[in-house]
Amino acid sequence: MKNQWTTAKAYLSHLNWDKTSNYFKLLLSFYWSRAVKKPIIWGMPSTLSIEPTTSCNLRCPECPSGLRNFSRPTGMLDKRLFYNIIEQSRKHLTYLHLYFQGEPYLHPQFTDLISYANRAGVFTSTSTNAHFLTPKNVEKTIESGLKQLIVSMDGITQEVYENYRIGGKLAKVQEGLSLLIGTRNAKKRAYPKVILQFLVTGKNEHQIPELKSWAKKMGVDELQLKSTQIYNYENGSSLIPSDPRYSRYVQAKDGKWKLKKEIENKCWRMWQGSVLTWDGKLVPCCFDKDAKHVMGDLKESNLSDIWRGKKYHTFRQQLLQDRKQIEICKNCTE
Ligand code: SF4
Repeated sequence: MKNQWTTAKAYLSHLNWDKTSNYFKLLLSFYWSRAVKKPIIWGMPSTLSIEPTTSCNLRCPECPSGLRNFSRPTGMLDKRLFYNIIEQSRKHLTYLHLYFQGEPYLHPQFTDLISYANRAGVFTSTSTNAHFLTPKNVEKTIESGLKQLIVSMDGITQEVYENYRIGGKLAKVQEGLSLLIGTRNAKKRAYPKVILQFLVTGKNEHQIPELKSWAKKMGVDELQLKSTQIYNYENGSSLIPSDPRYSRYVQAKDGKWKLKKEIENKCWRMWQGSVLTWDGKLVPCCFDKDAKHVMGDLKESNLSDIWRGKKYHTFRQQLLQDRKQIEICKNCTE
């Protein structure tokens, strides 16, 4: 709780009048749009996820980066494009997640990107599989001003860990985490806060008690037990956990599996923020991994024009009318 408050304090310290009023404009336009069933947008994106790269060192089975089966081009974010986006959005951006697909530390200038956003007054966060937390990267990460580092670790023994993180080395993750937390504490720095994210599946749920005591001993700031999105869940999957608290799916009377949460024709994310691929394509959210719904290209247009443009309008309209018609929204708990 204390750590969550420290993170919240960092988040709040980045707010100002422009960012706060923008956020309330978005909130107001979201509720107004739902009431009149017509998309209206009064603010600019308050959060952005930006993809440093699609490259990844692992082969996770539910991830296109890992499976190397993207239908979109793969590559590295150009830092001039990134600077340009930060300049366009720094006035209203309250949260920047430097991650979408891929392993961000494989981008050669990754920590420079964080530093730039940090100097622009933006709260920064990233997600990593923690295989590149070398002494040099740990030092650069702490000095970059990063506020939150989310580490994916889905097993507490190598055997279980590599069930999902195929090609991963648990000892390397643990070593990197220990180095980061130890160095940060020795420097008496409060950030980055380290969140350990455990995707609960049918193959690792038995390790939760052991994981909790390990996380405590390691001194991670927060442990998040997250449910996993499964692509083909209708006929069941060994990845669906038996504990319903960690599952997005339930079995219906006919034996088929379905989403636990009833789908409603709304999605706050479509009013709150956006996701950017490494090559400048703005997509609605992180579920659009293959960029099937490109709202615009930031190499050709500016953020404001795309955010208020026709494609976004049509997409938001569809969400308000019948969300199930959009393939990615069918398997989403938002
Ligand atoms: S998949 Fe659809 S409903 Fe889910 S967050 Fe994305 S746009 Fe919203």
